[in-house]
Amino acid sequence: MPRQTINPYNNEVLKTFDDATDQEIDAAITTADKLYYEMKHQTIQDRAKTLHMIAQGIRDHSQELAEIATREMGKLIGESKGEVELCAIIADYFADHAEEFLQPTTIESQVHGEAKVYKHATGVILAVEPWNFPYYQIMRVFAPNFMVGNPMILRDAANIPWSAQAFADIVLEAGAPKGALTNVFMSYDQVADVIADPRIQGVALTGSERGGSSVAEEAGKNLKKSTLELGGQDVFVVLDDANMEDVNNIAWRARLYNAGQVCTSSKRFIVMDNVYDEFLENLKKNFAAVKPGDPMDPATTLAPMNTKKAKEKLQKQVDEAVAAGAVVAYGNESYDLPGQFFMPTILTNISLDNPAARTEMFGPVAQVYKVHSEEEAIELANHSQYGLGGIVFSGDAKHGEEVATQIETGMVFVNNFMASLPELPFGGVKNSGYGRELSDLGLMAFVNEQLVVTADGPDMHNMAGGLVTPDAEE
Ligand code: NAP
Repeated sequence: MPRQTINPYNNEVLKTFDDATDQEIDAAITTADKLYYEMKHQTIQDRAKTLHMIAQGIRDHSQELAEIATREMGKLIGESKGEVELCAIIADYFADHAEEFLQPTTIESQVHGEAKVYKHATGVILAVEPWNFPYYQIMRVFAPNFMVGNPMILRDAANIPWSAQAFADIVLEAGAPKGALTNVFMSYDQVADVIADPRIQGVALTGSERGGSSVAEEAGKNLKKSTLELGGQDVFVVLDDANMEDVNNIAWRARLYNAGQVCTSSKRFIVMDNVYDEFLENLKKNFAAVKPGDPMDPATTLAPMNTKKAKEKLQKQVDEAVAAGAVVAYGNESYDLPGQFFMPTILTNISLDNPAARTEMFGPVAQVYKVHSEEEAIELANHSQYGLGGIVFSGDAKHGEEVATQIETGMVFVNNFMASLPELPFGGVKNSGYGRELSDLGLMAFVNEQLVVTADGPDMHNMAGGLVTPDAEE
C-alpha cells in the first residue's frame, strides 16, 4: 500500500511512497549481510571516523531535516532542530566511546587459565520505529550498532516515509557504507518475513504495546533476540515541600512538549494536598497560554497532533474518561483550525477504576490526582501496567531521590525535566518493554558476549565429568 506524507497542520498530501517488493527487501538484506562480513575486517577506529562524518552530515543538513519532520508529523520547528542536533550528539558519543565499551573484559575466576569476555557483532538487525521522533529513534539504534558492526534495516512508521528516507539518504551520503542503514517500506507481513530470515539476528522495536507484542511474538517464534521500548504513563510527583516556582514552570512543558506525544511525557500529575490548588491553577493558566498554529512558525507553541487518527483516538479516550466520572478542569473544546490540533486538557477526579487511570493518553491531556501522603503518592505512581520514566519534585533533593527509587520505572528524574542523552540508559520495565537503548547498556543489546578461556594446557587434576569442581583439590 502506498505511504503518504500528510501535513497535519493543513492536511495537504505532500508525497507518496510505494512499499518495497519482496525482491527489493531480499536485496536489502543481502547487501546488509555482505557488509556484516566486511565490517569484521574493519577497525573500530575506521568506523568511528565514519560515524563522526555522519554526525557532521546530519548537522550540515539540519535545516532540511528539521523542515521535513515538521511538515510530515507536525513537530514545532524548534523541537525538530533540537532533535536533529541530538542525533549528531548521539553519533559523536558512540564514535568516541564504543572502542572503550567493546574492549574484552577479564573475569576473575577459579577456572584454569584466563577468562575473558569478547564483544562481537552478531549480524544484521531490524529496527521497527515510531513517528514521534522521526530521527532520534533511528539514531538510538543505528549509532551503537554501527560501531559494533551490526548493519541495520529500518522499518519506520507509515506516516513518516519522507523523514525516514531523507535520514537514510543523508547517512549514506555522509559516508556510511552501503547496507549500514537501509530504509525499507514494508508491510506488517513483510516485517514478519524479515524477522524470520536467518540472516537477521535481532529486532529492536519502539512503539505501542500492541505493536511490541506482535513483533516480539514473531521474534520469539523465530528465536531472535528483541528489545522493546514501549509506552508509558509517567508520573510527575509534587511533594509537599516542592519548589512550586520550578514545578509550575516545568509541569506544562513536560506534558505539552511534542504536542504531548512522547513516551516519557508526564501524563499523571500526583500532587500533595497542600499544593494541589496552586498546582492546578498554574497548569490551567499555562495550558491556556499556548498558541496553536503553523509549526514552521517559531512563535507557535502548540503543535498539531501527528494524524487525524491519533487525534480521534485521544478524543475517544477523554470521552470515556469523562463518562466514567472524570472532571474536565480545563480544555476539551475544539479549535477553529483545519489541522489536527487538540486543545490542552486537564482531567481531575479520576477514580482508580476509571479506564483513564490505566490508559496512556498520547497527546496534550494531563491527568491530575490529589494525594494526602507520600505513601499514597508512591502507591498511585505504581498503579500502572507501565514502568517507563517519571519526575519527582521535592524541596529536599536527597529525599526526592529516596522517593524516586520506590517508583517502579526504568528512569526517574528529581527536580528537573526528563532528558535523553547518549550516556544515559533509556528504557522501562513492566509493559513499557525490556532492554535498554543508549549508553554502554544499549550498545550491548545485539552483541555476542563471547567467553574465551585460555590456558597453556589442561589441568588434569581438576576435572569432574567435564566440569571444573570449584572445591576440587590440586
Ligand atoms: P505502534 O503503532 O506500535 O507503531 C510503532 C512502529 O511499529 C511503527 O513502525 C508501526 O508501523 C510498527 N508496527 C506496529 N504494529 C506492527 C506489527 N504488527 N508488525 C510490524 N510492525 C508493526 O506505535 P505508535 O502508536 O505509532 O507510537 C506511539 C507509541 O510508541 C506510544 O505508546 C509511545 O509511548 C511509544 N514510544 C515509546 C518510546 C520508548 O522509547 N519507550 C519512544 C517513543 C514512542 P505502522 O506505522 O505502519 O503501523
